[in-house]
Amino acid sequence: MAEQHDLMELAKRRGFFFGSNGAYGGTAGFYTFGPEGASLKHNVESAWRDRFTVRLGNDEIEAPTIMPEAVFEASGHLDGFDDMLVECAECGESHRADHLIEDAVEDIEDAEALGVDRVEELIREHDLACPTCGAALAGEPVEDFNLMFETSIGPGSGQTGYMRPETAQGIFVEFPRLKEYARGQLPFGVTQIGPAYRNEISPRRGIIRVREFTQAELEQFIDPEEDEPPLGEVDDVGVRLYPASEQHADDGGYVDTTIGEAVAEGIIGSPWVAYYLGVAQEWYERVGVDMDRFRFRQHLGGERAHYAADCWDAESEIDGNWIEIAGFAYRGDYDLSKHGEYSGDRFTIFKRYDEPVTVEKAVVDPDMSALGPEFGGAAADVAEALQDLAEDDPDAFDSDEVTVDVDGESYTVDTEVANFSIEEQTESGEHITPHVVEPSFGVGRTVYTLLEHAYREDEVDGEERSYLSLAPEMAPTDVAVFPLVTNDDELVGVAEDVAGSLRKAGLSVSYDDSGSIGRRYRRQDEVGTPFCVTVDKDGLEGDGGPTVTLRERDSAAQIRLPVDDVAAELAALLAGDREFEGLSQRYDDVDTDVTTA
Ligand code: AMP
Repeated sequence: MAEQHDLMELAKRRGFFFGSNGAYGGTAGFYTFGPEGASLKHNVESAWRDRFTVRLGNDEIEAPTIMPEAVFEASGHLDGFDDMLVECAECGESHRADHLIEDAVEDIEDAEALGVDRVEELIREHDLACPTCGAALAGEPVEDFNLMFETSIGPGSGQTGYMRPETAQGIFVEFPRLKEYARGQLPFGVTQIGPAYRNEISPRRGIIRVREFTQAELEQFIDPEEDEPPLGEVDDVGVRLYPASEQHADDGGYVDTTIGEAVAEGIIGSPWVAYYLGVAQEWYERVGVDMDRFRFRQHLGGERAHYAADCWDAESEIDGNWIEIAGFAYRGDYDLSKHGEYSGDRFTIFKRYDEPVTVEKAVVDPDMSALGPEFGGAAADVAEALQDLAEDDPDAFDSDEVTVDVDGESYTVDTEVANFSIEEQTESGEHITPHVVEPSFGVGRTVYTLLEHAYREDEVDGEERSYLSLAPEMAPTDVAVFPLVTNDDELVGVAEDVAGSLRKAGLSVSYDDSGSIGRRYRRQDEVGTPFCVTVDKDGLEGDGGPTVTLRERDSAAQIRLPVDDVAAELAALLAGDREFEGLSQRYDDVDTDVTTA
């Protein structure tokens, strides 16, 4: 296992990621992905898009990252998207108050659920100190701190806007249009990969908790009464679950089961959530997460976000700590109802009945020539209130008079004037608010997990090396090509031709001619390049046309093969259609002394 400092050091030295704005002293919580990291991140996003957009038949959109205040009033983020802040009076450093409690008090795993007042008390009871300067924090106020970055849209006082704290809102607010692209048919899913912003109180641990990060989210819109997930596809997928009940129990542990069984036994409440856990399990395995250091953990009661009914996190283990790398939430109709209510637009789908149905409907047809003179400007509102009352409580019209409230004032009307009746109406369907199931992945945390889980150290030909055993699909570079020496025109020419033909075949190729061959191999090992091709003099001297060596990263084993075979063999190896070991039966092994240059 990689210790964190090794990985952070490697990440910076080899160009995976590093703290941004270093020239200006750095900005906590912002990271730049360097050439290797940007490529790895891109590969993670492509693999996610392949599985969660293309193969599930969903649509992808790209929405703006700044949205107006009204969106977050409706979504609840303005009021509820807070973390607990405690500031040290001595050094001025801000801390997550709930994290301080969780770190210091053994039995408390979810301090956020305890509320601000209790957390303040606990800081006092346990006499907690500032992790930065050691000063006492007892007596310092704990406050709710809203995590959204505020900005203004347009010049002058303009309009208040916020950087989106999750990509999801960009999908929800466009639902009235998106449903048209889905031809008004449920279920349908919309995905988005893009940045989200949270003004984290104390960003930490490299790219794990940052203030700008990339999310890959799927919003699955369903009719809760009719739509079922294709559970059969993932029935047999094995998962390690950590349900809330086990987290509460003294001797609680993991439940190793299959998705099918977990649903049958009610361990996972929502079949839709279960379906996505199954899809995610296989996806994480594909991209190279060590599944022995992976679990799905159910949220505890107080931990659930303001919108979520049942929630599970995918968690990976990183140097002894479990971190959330994705969340799976059954959000119900919360988001669409709220946007419907606040915007006045239609966040519903018209669900057509199999057959039109005849329903009895209570209606009023008020005599406006009577209401007008009596109530003046309020008459139209009174008429509307009478219709609402007829629908809610038709019995109210049994008396001689009915009373309705308009803007806090009571108006009493003769029942005869209201003209109440029960009518038969034919309805062909109804407007329903779809429910939402949301798998939400953190791309940066996935990248970090892949690096951490792929990190290895061993010895090759008496020399220590570290390497990244990344899945070929994720590796930033497919293959590196080296001329063994640089002072031989023929040899360099062949190496350049090989690199060119591999690029033409669609592979990402790194051409490296600097330093000893051993150093070049180590450089590629450290960035996880699965294969290296070396052109040497021996390969140009035989009778049967030029040959090169092909080296595999993890085993450091080498074979010699004809130049003409390289592209096809590499394509098969990278696609997983061929094992490197099998090649040594067809081609000659090469002495693996990599230090001779
Ligand atoms: P949430 O909406 O909090 O469930 O977040 C969804 C996913 O986004 C999480 O599972 C993380 O992978 C990722 N994420 C959330 N906050 C951060 C952060 N501050 N830095 C990096 N990734 C984050």
